[in-house]
Amino acid sequence: MSKEHPEIDLVQERKEILNAFKGLMRAMKDRSREETRLIRKAFDMALEAHKDVRRKSGEPYIYHPIAVARICAEEMDLDATAVACALLHDTVEDTYITLQDIEDSFGKKVRRVIDGLTKIPKVFDENASVQAENFRKMILTISDDFRVVLVKLADRLHNMRTLGSMRPDKQLKIASETKFLYAPLAHRLGLYAVKMELEDLSMLYCEPEAYLKIESSLKSSKDVRNRFIRRFFAPIRETLLHEGYIYEIKARTKSISSIWKKMQDQDIPFEEVYDVFAIRIIVETPVELEKPDCWRIYSLVTDFYQPSPERLRDWISTPRANGYESLHTTVMSPQGKWVEVQIRSKRMDEIAEKGFAAHYRYKESKNDDNKFDRWIAEIRDLLESSDSNALDFVNEFKSNLFNDEIYIFTPKGELRVLPVGSTVVDFAFDIHTDIGNKCIGAKVNNRLVPLSYQLQNGDQLEIITSNKQKPSEDWLRFVVSARAKQKIKSSLNEERKIIAQDGKEILTRKFKQHNLKYNSENITFLTNYFGLQSATELYFRIAKGKIDLSKLRDIDESNGILQKKITKTKSKKIESDETPIINTKEDTLIIGDDFNGFDYKIAQCCNPIPGDKVFGFISISDGIKVHRYNCPNAENMMSKMAYRCLKAQWKSEKLIEREAAIKIMGIDQIGLVNKLTEIISKENNVNMKSIAFDTEDGIFEVKIRVMVYDTEHLELLMQKFEQVEGVQNVSRWDNQEKKE
Ligand code: MN
Repeated sequence: MSKEHPEIDLVQERKEILNAFKGLMRAMKDRSREETRLIRKAFDMALEAHKDVRRKSGEPYIYHPIAVARICAEEMDLDATAVACALLHDTVEDTYITLQDIEDSFGKKVRRVIDGLTKIPKVFDENASVQAENFRKMILTISDDFRVVLVKLADRLHNMRTLGSMRPDKQLKIASETKFLYAPLAHRLGLYAVKMELEDLSMLYCEPEAYLKIESSLKSSKDVRNRFIRRFFAPIRETLLHEGYIYEIKARTKSISSIWKKMQDQDIPFEEVYDVFAIRIIVETPVELEKPDCWRIYSLVTDFYQPSPERLRDWISTPRANGYESLHTTVMSPQGKWVEVQIRSKRMDEIAEKGFAAHYRYKESKNDDNKFDRWIAEIRDLLESSDSNALDFVNEFKSNLFNDEIYIFTPKGELRVLPVGSTVVDFAFDIHTDIGNKCIGAKVNNRLVPLSYQLQNGDQLEIITSNKQKPSEDWLRFVVSARAKQKIKSSLNEERKIIAQDGKEILTRKFKQHNLKYNSENITFLTNYFGLQSATELYFRIAKGKIDLSKLRDIDESNGILQKKITKTKSKKIESDETPIINTKEDTLIIGDDFNGFDYKIAQCCNPIPGDKVFGFISISDGIKVHRYNCPNAENMMSKMAYRCLKAQWKSEKLIEREAAIKIMGIDQIGLVNKLTEIISKENNVNMKSIAFDTEDGIFEVKIRVMVYDTEHLELLMQKFEQVEGVQNVSRWDNQEKKE
């Protein structure tokens, strides 16, 4: 580009761009005025957005979207919406235009398509062949709208056509990606012409020598071939005319890449590939006469030439999964050469070349605006229907996809595969342990979501982290991936050890004050005295202030060694701090809080915590659930399904935070929320999960979710709330909407 005379260049360039656009408009056959307006608007936006950008070849960028749009219109027969999306396909990714801008100007449908297109990474990972299957599944999954896939294919086709201006190493990468990812995708969708061209172009860059050799062989054998075809066809031509058929004959050579494949598969030279070309007879006939006419022509052809019975393919009675219809036969020529003859109607031919879109065009009247939408709906139906075993494509889709994996994107478009049901936390740990440990939430498709948000196929996720964050026991309730579970547990254990260390120091000081020896004998005594399992647990509770060390005074000691008091009554009383476990009956469910052996779940409807009177309920699909006796659903369960209820008891060996909800009501006062949150933040042992504040007519209602150890802990907190001025009522609050 000559910088010295930019204005001359620009004027000329502008003209050429408009010409390219006119070419696109011409390719959109019978478009309505509204469609014209839509495409014009998309063009204007794209032109402005890309105006200062040039492609590697030096030409203005806008040529690329125009060309992609033209492929959509001309070669795929797509509708005006798809063409508009093609014009806009790189705007959000590469320019200042946002998805919101797109929605404001073109509505939700176009936004969805552009959004899908933006999520597909421009160039995939090195290991294309390994990821091929994932990629195809992913691309089909994120496409709520199949236009995404189709426009993406058109985009790739144009990039392949203009690959020459790229750096050689990039060429190779993009070409092999095309071969492994995009060509098979085009094939699945029945876009034969696109598939063939993609394969040939990628071969040109991946195996240029073989490509050029076959190309020149085809060229040099062209005259011989044409003479052969003319002679072969002469008798048939006459008969067809005689019978009054309107027809067209095409002699189609196989694509270079498929000739190459055959040469390799059968280890034969070019000359021995018998079906280098096929003769295609395309008859113009109404739909109801297609089948008899095609068979009639078959009969005429085989009157002259002997067919090979093994090579008869009737794709008319049973069309292929991707919509392909045709009658194929291979006959022996007088020269002793096999020739493939394909017989089909004009309609079938268009489907074969352009795929489903063309198929649909024939099904509906041309003036039907919604034909494309209905076509898309039809594919969706195919994908979702349960008994479409004729469609191998669909089968594979279902068996691989909807089972147990979802496909999630990083902000940069990198694909991660996670188990179904995965949450923000699972994703964060999948990326990196540090990110998992510090994550406080995420943006999913630019919307803020909590940690427990269940990811949906195709979500694009940006994790939000904070240095103050650390994993909590609560996370184990919703994560599903083994990796996240393991990482959270190990972090929690680490955390416990650190806190326990503080407890150990406190205890050491206390022992000194009491002139007690700090030895294993005394520690074991105390551990047993408080009914705990390990010294670490003892230290942990001391650090958390859950053990009253002043009680040391009540224990006998001699020579610095702790001993049981002779007067038994007292110690009994202390021990009753821990609810004794009466587990004489086998059907009592013991709720340990060791998260390693979870064989029950805490019910979401009433969120019981240790200290609550609880029972177990055997749910049909989700194991045993633990409910409070005063759960809103308890009466129903116990009266109607008593046989599924179990006695349950807490057995607390470890202190574990659990979620509880509190509702506070009272008279609205300035600074009230501050006072309430201050109580929580001053209370060292309490973490707040959420707070919601509502006020009406001077009456306020605050709902707070907190993490507490047990009912005792919770009640202490509730008492403090009650003392706040203006507070009238403090109660446990159940999430009544969530029924189990
Ligand atoms: Mn593009």
